[in-house]
Amino acid sequence: MKRKHRKRRQRSQVIWVVMVVVLIAMVWSIYELFSPSVSAELTVPPIQKTAKPQEELSKRYKIVIDPGHGGKDPGAEGVSGNHERAYTLALSQKVFDLLQQEPMFEAYMTRTDDTFVHLEDRNQFAHDLDADALVSIHGNTYQDPGVSGTETYYYADDSIPFAREVHERLVEATGFRDRGVRKEGWKVLTGSNNLAILLEVGFLTNPGDEMEMLSESHQDRTAQGIVNGIKDYFANRED
Ligand SMILES: [Zn+2]
Repeated sequence: MKRKHRKRRQRSQVIWVVMVVVLIAMVWSIYELFSPSVSAELTVPPIQKTAKPQEELSKRYKIVIDPGHGGKDPGAEGVSGNHERAYTLALSQKVFDLLQQEPMFEAYMTRTDDTFVHLEDRNQFAHDLDADALVSIHGNTYQDPGVSGTETYYYADDSIPFAREVHERLVEATGFRDRGVRKEGWKVLTGSNNLAILLEVGFLTNPGDEMEMLSESHQDRTAQGIVNGIKDYFANRED
């Protein structure tokens, strides 16, 4: 009876030991199963919060297009009786539309209809926007109807390279006589603290220039030339 009892006790001890070993083995295998994924999780690099958002990587240049005159200020009167204010608005709108399609630019206009805008307000508009460039668009006038051609004006020396790039493409597009890049103290230029140029596309007082300037196809070509010149300049600028 006594021996039998001891034997039974020994057997139950063996069962206990086996159970504990099995339990340890199970815990170990479960640990092994999950530990690799835990360590993998820990090796995932942290999110780089210092990376620049996509929109900051490519700078968009702010270009202000300024249709000369407007409202009570008609500007020059062309041979046909058309006013400069209408021509400058029509051409500026085309330049604006083309610029809007270029991912490198943000385009603005100082006026979008036939209203009078003070010269100081045109400068202030560009200043408030912190614009990269102001391009004022005009049609020329002279007492001698024989005078024709394209001129580009700047005032600050900083604007010379910009004036040259746009003028080259503008003359190419208008097909008019090249009257050069000139320095002049037009108020819209002297009051600017950004790049600023003034384009005299052609002479509205010259019958040949005016006839072309009032045609839709010539305006389309001229607008594209101006935009190409602006692109030439800003594509090569390092900032
Ligand atoms: Zn004008």
